[in-house]
Amino acid sequence: MLRTDLTGHTLDWVRWLWQTHRFHMFPVDHPALPECAGAHHPERPCDGKRGKHPCGRWARQATDNPALLRAVFACGPRNIGIACKASGLLVVDEDRPGALAEYAAGIGQDLPETFTVTTAKGCHRYYRQPPGIELGNGTGALAGRGIDVRGAKGHGGYVVGPGSLHASGVLYQPLDPAAPLLPAPAWLVHALQAAPPPARNPGASASAGRGSVQGGRPYKVLTALVATVLEATEGVDRNSRLFWAAVRMYEHADRGLFPAESGRAALAEAARRIGLGDGETHATLGSARTTAGRGRR
Ligand SMILES: [Zn+2]
Repeated sequence: MLRTDLTGHTLDWVRWLWQTHRFHMFPVDHPALPECAGAHHPERPCDGKRGKHPCGRWARQATDNPALLRAVFACGPRNIGIACKASGLLVVDEDRPGALAEYAAGIGQDLPETFTVTTAKGCHRYYRQPPGIELGNGTGALAGRGIDVRGAKGHGGYVVGPGSLHASGVLYQPLDPAAPLLPAPAWLVHALQAAPPPARNPGASASAGRGSVQGGRPYKVLTALVATVLEATEGVDRNSRLFWAAVRMYEHADRGLFPAESGRAALAEAARRIGLGDGETHATLGSARTTAGRGRR
């Protein structure tokens, strides 16, 4: 019964996505299944993260053929993978809500209301790929901001689409189902084409070499520092945690891991969330800047 309902639910979403946007889709593991339906390489077994792993060779399997879609999604509960390259999509994945709007505001630009899907942690903003430019998964000037990008270079990337269930029980849903799918704004294309933040170790691995590609080092470092601030206990150690995280952040920024302004913005946002006042945050970040600078000499 459960199986039938979930399958029907998925088929409804696949049909809606096909009718509305003609996306190229493929099946992905569903957290209600007893074990991961993802196709794993024998040498790289499942990492246990449920609901995100493609069931087969997704880049080849992705299709916009309605009969094939019906057939492939009818065999049980599945999440819905959307292939960005085949669908002509550039998707901005925000793990920190407001991150892209913050960047846009910082350069005096508006963030147009394109088709957006809420996820467990943040949202996916869907844009049309700019014609004649193949943007990949690199984040360029957006590195270190809690933003990840799925584009069209090589096999391209994929996103888990609306109608899918996250392992936490959160359903991926369109913010506004009627929202249009807009072309990627020029400022976003420029930002993604810009060189990532400078001065990384030239011997660094490829995965560390592209800014905040999910799991990339700058992203991990900044995420850990933000977590340190967010874990603060009210009234006791909020300020000292912010100070400690900010000194580390400036040290990393001075070595070129990410732009200091990105780190500063991320920590200021974390400080706001734990209830620190803007004045206090400003003062703490200022003395952390001085302390980190002193350590360099
Ligand atoms: Zn898996």
